[in-house]
Amino acid sequence: MKHFTDSHCHIDFSEFDENRQQLLSLCYAANIKKIIVPAVSPSTWQSLLNIAKNNQTPCQLLPCLGIHPWYLNGLTHDHLSQLDDAIASNRQQLIAIGETGLDGVIAKEQDNLTLQQSFFEFHIQMANKYSLPLIVHHRRTHQEILQQLKSTPVEKNGIIHAFSGSYQQGKAYIDLGFKLGIGGTITYPRAEKTIKAVKRFPVDALVLETDAPAMPLFGMQGQANSPLNLSIIFDKLAEIRQAPKQQLSEAIESNINRLFDDSRM
Ligand SMILES: [Zn+2]
Repeated sequence: MKHFTDSHCHIDFSEFDENRQQLLSLCYAANIKKIIVPAVSPSTWQSLLNIAKNNQTPCQLLPCLGIHPWYLNGLTHDHLSQLDDAIASNRQQLIAIGETGLDGVIAKEQDNLTLQQSFFEFHIQMANKYSLPLIVHHRRTHQEILQQLKSTPVEKNGIIHAFSGSYQQGKAYIDLGFKLGIGGTITYPRAEKTIKAVKRFPVDALVLETDAPAMPLFGMQGQANSPLNLSIIFDKLAEIRQAPKQQLSEAIESNINRLFDDSRM
């Protein structure tokens, strides 16, 4: 029997308020038994933790705390000490730190790369302080992220979420011990470079994700993405790698178990 973990889904977002419990029941029935839920902003931390705690379905929600690089506007370093406090008081519930990272497009628009880098650095320190893996967002920032991960290594490693890029770029993260989050990108025929790379990566470096409600799959643009689409991403991955599905799903699930090394896994 195949079991899946959606390693990146914003199930706490308001898009899911109306049918969250029903959707999670459907996920469980579709063998998506665990969902990792990264946080994006201090204003949503408490509701995310509550949603995870009050979840009545057998589909397990595993929360993270962090500040996404898109949400830094108006934040100061005070929010970083709040992050430290929030992690300390909820450590038992948390599965990772994130989401954090560097976004090159936002950095250009808002001229805030230095701020992004200092927030990212703090998240790395938190991952090490609390012995948790890190969930990393990238966009046109592979070089800068790699530089930072090399100068301050994350002991428990983590996931490069929604990986897109070349084999060499992916391999550099894998060599550091990171897993690559494989998501909807591979359903787009134009993502040739990423598809070619994903074909070659060692299977023990791959995890699956939807990033729902963001990142709609090819052919579903304009619609909110759903964690249920994880199986479409998995099928596409099996096709790209020409891998037997049972074996591939087991390998990916054991990557999750090894990375998070948590009794809930
Ligand atoms: Zn995300």
